[in-house]
Amino acid sequence: MSKTIFQRIIDREIPAQIVHEDDICLAFRDVNPQAPTHILVIPKKPIPSIDHLVAEDAATVSHLWLTIPRLAADQGLADGYRVVVNCGSDGGQTVDHLHFHILGGRPLAWPPG
Ligand code: 5GP
Repeated sequence: MSKTIFQRIIDREIPAQIVHEDDICLAFRDVNPQAPTHILVIPKKPIPSIDHLVAEDAATVSHLWLTIPRLAADQGLADGYRVVVNCGSDGGQTVDHLHFHILGGRPLAWPPG
Protein backbone atom coordinates (compact mmCIF):
# COMPACT_ATOMS: atom_id res chain seq x y z
CA MET A 1 0.00 0.00 0.00
CA SER A 2 1.34 3.45 -0.87
CA LYS A 3 2.17 5.89 1.89
CA THR A 4 -0.25 8.63 2.76
CA ILE A 5 0.87 12.22 2.41
CA PHE A 6 1.03 12.45 6.21
CA GLN A 7 3.26 9.39 6.44
CA ARG A 8 5.54 11.10 3.94
CA ILE A 9 5.60 14.19 6.17
CA ILE A 10 6.48 12.01 9.19
CA ASP A 11 9.26 10.41 7.15
CA ARG A 12 10.48 13.86 6.03
CA GLU A 13 9.97 12.97 2.37
CA ILE A 14 7.97 16.14 1.85
CA PRO A 15 8.28 19.41 3.77
CA ALA A 16 5.82 20.75 6.31
CA GLN A 17 5.79 23.59 8.80
CA ILE A 18 6.18 21.46 11.89
CA VAL A 19 5.20 23.12 15.17
CA HIS A 20 5.61 20.14 17.51
CA GLU A 21 7.09 16.67 17.49
CA ASP A 22 7.54 14.01 20.14
CA ASP A 23 7.77 10.22 20.21
CA ILE A 24 4.03 9.76 19.66
CA CYS A 25 2.80 12.63 17.51
CA LEU A 26 3.61 15.31 15.00
CA ALA A 27 1.86 18.67 14.54
CA PHE A 28 2.21 20.88 11.48
CA ARG A 29 0.41 23.71 9.69
CA ASP A 30 -2.29 22.78 7.21
CA VAL A 31 -1.21 23.58 3.66
CA ASN A 32 -4.68 25.01 2.92
CA PRO A 33 -5.62 26.81 6.13
CA GLN A 34 -9.30 27.38 6.90
CA ALA A 35 -8.59 29.81 9.74
CA PRO A 36 -5.70 32.08 10.72
CA THR A 37 -4.36 29.18 12.77
CA HIS A 38 -4.91 25.73 11.29
CA ILE A 39 -2.75 22.94 12.65
CA LEU A 40 -2.98 19.21 12.09
CA VAL A 41 -2.03 16.86 14.92
CA ILE A 42 -1.33 13.29 13.88
CA PRO A 43 -0.11 10.14 15.59
CA LYS A 44 3.11 8.71 14.25
CA LYS A 45 1.38 5.35 14.23
CA PRO A 46 -0.41 5.04 10.86
CA ILE A 47 -3.99 4.73 12.10
CA PRO A 48 -6.29 5.40 9.09
CA SER A 49 -9.19 7.02 10.97
CA ILE A 50 -11.04 7.04 14.29
CA ASP A 51 -12.98 4.04 12.95
CA HIS A 52 -9.73 2.08 13.12
CA LEU A 53 -8.89 2.83 16.74
CA VAL A 54 -8.40 -0.18 19.00
CA ALA A 55 -7.99 -0.45 22.75
CA GLU A 56 -4.21 -0.46 22.50
CA ASP A 57 -4.40 3.03 20.93
CA ALA A 58 -5.89 4.54 24.11
CA ALA A 59 -2.58 5.97 25.32
CA THR A 60 -1.86 7.44 21.88
CA VAL A 61 -5.27 9.11 21.67
CA SER A 62 -4.95 10.44 25.21
CA HIS A 63 -1.59 11.89 24.32
CA LEU A 64 -3.03 13.63 21.26
CA TRP A 65 -5.85 15.17 23.30
CA LEU A 66 -3.45 16.29 26.03
CA THR A 67 -1.11 17.81 23.43
CA ILE A 68 -3.83 19.78 21.61
CA PRO A 69 -4.52 22.38 24.34
CA ARG A 70 -0.79 22.88 24.86
CA LEU A 71 -0.37 23.58 21.15
CA ALA A 72 -3.38 25.90 21.17
CA ALA A 73 -1.84 27.84 24.05
CA ASP A 74 1.52 27.96 22.25
CA GLN A 75 -0.29 29.41 19.22
CA GLY A 76 -1.92 32.10 21.35
CA LEU A 77 -5.49 30.84 20.92
CA ALA A 78 -6.58 32.30 24.26
CA ASP A 79 -10.07 33.17 22.97
CA GLY A 80 -10.83 29.58 22.02
CA TYR A 81 -10.48 27.22 19.12
CA ARG A 82 -12.12 24.20 17.53
CA VAL A 83 -10.86 20.62 17.23
CA VAL A 84 -12.23 18.71 14.24
CA VAL A 85 -11.81 15.06 13.30
CA ASN A 86 -13.28 14.15 9.92
CA CYS A 87 -14.05 10.48 9.35
CA GLY A 88 -14.87 8.79 6.07
CA SER A 89 -16.18 10.29 2.86
CA ASP A 90 -19.36 11.83 4.30
CA GLY A 91 -17.26 13.24 7.13
CA GLY A 92 -15.00 14.97 4.64
CA GLN A 93 -11.89 12.94 5.37
CA THR A 94 -9.40 13.21 2.49
CA VAL A 95 -6.23 11.78 4.04
CA ASP A 96 -6.39 8.27 5.45
CA HIS A 97 -4.14 8.92 8.42
CA LEU A 98 -5.90 9.95 11.65
CA HIS A 99 -5.62 13.69 12.21
CA PHE A 100 -7.05 16.33 14.50
CA HIS A 101 -7.56 19.80 13.03
CA ILE A 102 -6.97 22.71 15.43
CA LEU A 103 -8.71 25.79 14.04
CA GLY A 104 -8.59 29.21 15.61
CA GLY A 105 -7.70 32.84 15.34
CA ARG A 106 -11.21 33.98 14.34
CA PRO A 107 -14.78 33.30 15.49
CA LEU A 108 -15.91 30.00 13.96
CA ALA A 109 -19.46 29.52 12.71
CA TRP A 110 -21.74 26.74 13.91
CA PRO A 111 -23.10 24.42 12.58
CA PRO A 112 -20.32 23.47 10.15
CA GLY A 113 -21.20 22.91 6.51
P1 5GP B 1 -9.28 16.00 6.01
O1 5GP B 1 -10.07 16.61 4.89
O2 5GP B 1 -8.79 14.60 5.66
O3 5GP B 1 -9.95 16.04 7.34
O4 5GP B 1 -8.02 16.90 6.20
C1 5GP B 1 -6.86 16.76 5.46
C2 5GP B 1 -6.13 18.07 5.55
O5 5GP B 1 -4.80 17.87 5.11
C3 5GP B 1 -6.73 19.19 4.68
O6 5GP B 1 -7.10 20.27 5.50
C4 5GP B 1 -5.59 19.54 3.72
O7 5GP B 1 -5.51 20.91 3.46
C5 5GP B 1 -4.36 19.02 4.46
N1 5GP B 1 -3.28 18.61 3.59
C6 5GP B 1 -3.38 17.82 2.48
N2 5GP B 1 -2.17 17.62 1.94
C7 5GP B 1 -1.29 18.31 2.73
C8 5GP B 1 0.13 18.48 2.65
O8 5GP B 1 0.82 17.97 1.78
N3 5GP B 1 0.69 19.23 3.62
C9 5GP B 1 -0.04 19.80 4.64
N4 5GP B 1 0.63 20.52 5.54
N5 5GP B 1 -1.38 19.65 4.72
C10 5GP B 1 -1.99 18.92 3.77
